[in-house]
Amino acid sequence: MIDLTADCGRCAALCCLALHLDAGSRFAIDKPAGAPCPNLDRTGQTHGCTIHGDLTARGFPGCVAYDCAGAGQRITQELYAGKSWRTEPALAAPMMESFRHMRAIHEMLQMLDAAEALPLGAADRAALREHRDHLARPMTPETAAAAAGDLPELRALLRGLAGALGSAARAAAHLQPAPRISTSWEKTARSPEHGHYSARHRTPPAGELPGRPDRRSGR
Ligand code: SF4
Repeated sequence: MIDLTADCGRCAALCCLALHLDAGSRFAIDKPAGAPCPNLDRTGQTHGCTIHGDLTARGFPGCVAYDCAGAGQRITQELYAGKSWRTEPALAAPMMESFRHMRAIHEMLQMLDAAEALPLGAADRAALREHRDHLARPMTPETAAAAAGDLPELRALLRGLAGALGSAARAAAHLQPAPRISTSWEKTARSPEHGHYSARHRTPPAGELPGRPDRRSGR
């Protein structure tokens, strides 16, 4: 069973490495994708955040809001057998690339779960379950990259199903990632400078930021 909830204690702090931060109301600093956050444990041996208990007060509410949808621990444990870019720096680039792929895969898994609530016929429901099983199967970095490449086609399939229901707008609303995931302020794109990806924040949803798992306290 794939866990779509972040378990930071089983992740190699991939978001603290891979995301691009823009200084502003969500983050106190600028940080390019691929640069370890300076607030990470300075020994380089753990994945703990040295300001974990004080993130919002120190100007990092975006870190509290961010949720990788369980992609981080799946990459660390399943794709890289518990290894870390901190102790094996050569893994930084491939783990970042896997993060980009797996984040998209887990967002799709959330949408497929949400689609279960739609009034689909048996054949369509079975087809979506087959796609879900495909994305939830044990993966390698290579198969994750291939699966991510298939996502546009799957998104088109979901859009088609939503449209065929006759209430496209309502159906489409059900096919968004779960609201607890802060994708409204994150987007990913190729970064020519770093050859990987960046995630820049946009304005977060109004209201209180959701809490995040207690993952950065001295791992
Ligand atoms: S959680 Fe801590 S180490 Fe990670 S990006 Fe935020 S401030 Fe940096």
